[in-house]
Amino acid sequence: MTEKVYNLGIVGYGGMGRYHAHYILKDHRQVKVYGVYDINPNRNKIGMEDGYKSYDSMDNLLNDKLINIVLIATPNDVHKEIAIKAIAAGKHVVCEKPVTIKSEELIEILDAVKNTDQVFMVHQNRRWDKDFLTIKNIYDNRKIGEVFHVESRVHGANGIPGDWRHLKEKGGGMLLDWGVHLLDQLLFMVNSNITSVYADLSYILGNEVDDGFQTIITFENGVRALIEVGTTNFINLPRWYAKGTEGTAVVENWSNNGKIVIQNKDIVATAPKPIKAGQGFTKTMASPSEEATTTISLPEPIQLDELFYDNLVSVIENRKKPIVKNEEVLRVLKLMEIIFESAKKNEIIKVSL
Ligand code: NAD
Repeated sequence: MTEKVYNLGIVGYGGMGRYHAHYILKDHRQVKVYGVYDINPNRNKIGMEDGYKSYDSMDNLLNDKLINIVLIATPNDVHKEIAIKAIAAGKHVVCEKPVTIKSEELIEILDAVKNTDQVFMVHQNRRWDKDFLTIKNIYDNRKIGEVFHVESRVHGANGIPGDWRHLKEKGGGMLLDWGVHLLDQLLFMVNSNITSVYADLSYILGNEVDDGFQTIITFENGVRALIEVGTTNFINLPRWYAKGTEGTAVVENWSNNGKIVIQNKDIVATAPKPIKAGQGFTKTMASPSEEATTTISLPEPIQLDELFYDNLVSVIENRKKPIVKNEEVLRVLKLMEIIFESAKKNEIIKVSL
């Protein structure tokens, strides 16, 4: 059976639009980049130089019957209006993250797509990151026992990048930018209701939007997560740190360096020897005796069923369920709203989410 080929039109041919064209979809069997539209004529010109049809208006792209899928890769404030127009034009839609700035905007998009045969999917690509899928393996398969504490961080020292990411009205700020990835990963992994949220946003660089944040999220099943994004960090803490009832895991970076240390359950270990530490003396903080623990390598990342665009095609052809479900994306948006509220009030917010 010959596979159907889907033509994709990109709205917003900046950094991420080009990344889809040049990397993610470079040799895709079934999804081919066909055309681009950007409000900046120079970007349309680059699209043409890259070998794609360039349109002089978004309506012309949307009215082209040869286009089956629209990718939205513009700044965040215009995702909603473009998505709703593309759905009205009969296209399937892939939208970059964060899908919208507010949860009500996503609800409007979902209403627009509800009674159609079209697919609307959000590009939460970091669900496929190896470091995350390694931690998910540790979590799902109890490699350190029952996980009760997770820390997930990304640290940079370059401040907020680009232009529109500095502006509130454009949906700038690091919570919406990187936070959405880390929160999406967390909620994709921890299958439990959120019961409380505390957050602190940082404004060190003097922008109107946050240049980083820390949030503590507590789940009904007892898991506590510390999620942190920083853009003023000249020394990075590990990407992941997790504690379980039988051990501790660390994933240092995106290259998956790290280790697991587990407690040797069946061994009666000698008590750790007290050590001199600083100006004091401690047994509590001394390393466990040698026979008490075993250090092992990190497990392999688990595999998700399909890659993003393969899954999109499967969903369009009614063969599979989406890996990124719209109700999950909506839950992350609602969580971000609670994070903003907590930071504003400087209070722990009790929720059931
Ligand atoms: P960018 O500034 O590099 O590119 C945005 C492009 O959109 C620009 O060329 C701009 O001229 C164009 N544009 C603006 N308004 C438009 C409109 N109304 N119609 C058509 N074109 C318009 O930004 P970027 O870094 O490419 O980010 C774009 C989107 O991709 C954002 O939503 C961002 O959060 C997301 N993104 C996702 C990832 C990821 O890993 N999933 C990574 C980076 C960016």
